[in-house]
Amino acid sequence: MSRYLRASLQALDPYVPGEQPQDQQYIKLNTNESPYPPSPRVLEAVSTPEVEKLRLYSDPEARILVSAIAKRYGVGVDQVFVGNGSDEVLAFAFQAYGGGKVRFPALSYGFYPVFARLYGVSAEEIPLKEDFSIDPADYLDCGGTVVLANPNAPTGLALSRAELEEIIASNPDQVVLVDEAYVDFGGESCVPLLEKYGNLLVVQTFSKSRALAGARLGFALGSPELIADLNRIKFSFNPYNLNRLTILAGTAAMEDEDYFQSCVQRIQATRSRVTEALRKLGFTVLDSQTNFVFTKPPAMSGRAYYQALRQRGILVRHWDRPLIAGWVRVTIGSETEMGRFIAVTEELQS
Ligand code: PMP
Repeated sequence: MSRYLRASLQALDPYVPGEQPQDQQYIKLNTNESPYPPSPRVLEAVSTPEVEKLRLYSDPEARILVSAIAKRYGVGVDQVFVGNGSDEVLAFAFQAYGGGKVRFPALSYGFYPVFARLYGVSAEEIPLKEDFSIDPADYLDCGGTVVLANPNAPTGLALSRAELEEIIASNPDQVVLVDEAYVDFGGESCVPLLEKYGNLLVVQTFSKSRALAGARLGFALGSPELIADLNRIKFSFNPYNLNRLTILAGTAAMEDEDYFQSCVQRIQATRSRVTEALRKLGFTVLDSQTNFVFTKPPAMSGRAYYQALRQRGILVRHWDRPLIAGWVRVTIGSETEMGRFIAVTEELQS
């Protein structure tokens, strides 16, 4: 870093994304991407004439995309905000609602503490229970913004909608942000609660269940007032935050409900098989509601297992952090990829 950098930024510890090797040599189970391609309708939408239109700016209001999302979730177009990945949506929300303090679990999406630091928000990080679940009581009437990933990462465990409703209802003067990046794989979405609670902001992504991680597209659903707040920041920062091709790709993906459902179902079925196979081998596996499993090998450290898999061409995610050093997070890949993952794991156990 240079000596010119602001002191507050010098103290920042940036987020470290999972490895993204570009050589295709790995079975990539480390960043919760979809093993399946985007909907065929996406390929049709991103046509040569549309690529030629890249000379023109994109629609700063991304109207066709916002309409498709509003229709799918049964909300008004003024209740939808779209961003460059849900990371951008989360960043705007931390900027908008971090005035006081923000409370989130000590083990959750690693970007939350980074955003808190970046925007100078005081963060209250609440430990999980011993079984890695979130205690809803920790988030009742808490006098600050609440951010909860539901299902949570990297555990894959979910709170029920009823538990979240209690949290939302007990914090009427605070925004409760529910990050539903993984909800399509089994969690109960809070979207039906939007009618009742003006302090609820639901954030979702196209990166997992809609197979568009590389397009960078996320969205928030909330009251028209909350959505206006996010737009205030966006239009003060980068009005064209979505490129033309992403707007088209996202619209096509959102409109192809059958394809979306079939991908989700395949991933859920593979997840059941992988969970069962790992448990048979003596692994501890949390009950995942997501497109990954969080698992602890019986007779090897998390790091050793991660490294052994890596040497055999399989990338998973491991964190050298207290409490979870013995664990790894494994994205659910295709049936073939997971067959290979289980075969290699069996070999390592024998
Ligand atoms: N929230 C959670 C809980 C995540 O795991 C991720 C993915 N790393 C994101 C948000 C961000 O996803 P994206 O920016 O690709 O939409």
